[in-house]
Amino acid sequence: MIHDTGHEPHDWWSPRELDFYKEVTVDDGWLLCPCCKLVPRIWEFDNGSSTICGCRTNIYQRWSIHAESINHIYKRDGNLSNYDPDRLRKYWNRWVETGEVTYDNRGAKGDDV
Ligand SMILES: [Zn+2]
Repeated sequence: MIHDTGHEPHDWWSPRELDFYKEVTVDDGWLLCPCCKLVPRIWEFDNGSSTICGCRTNIYQRWSIHAESINHIYKRDGNLSNYDPDRLRKYWNRWVETGEVTYDNRGAKGDDV
């Protein structure tokens, strides 16, 4: 799938990112990034999750889609009934399809780190 684009995506990820970010596939339901045509990689921990693809917002910063941490959801709702383990993929796909960013982690600084 990736090779159809003619890109060599792994050249765009540093060894550190390859260690930290997990590979996901189109078969898992992830859409390709409309800009770099890559399937993203994901980083997922209890304190939040995010994507990386081949895009950057500047030379230091990858473009990424974020999802709330379990702690953040729990603090907001008082329970985990709204916790969706698939939320990062849904947020990513929504951004790909509509350009809409569901969750802006800048508002949650301090909760998620
Ligand atoms: Zn991209």
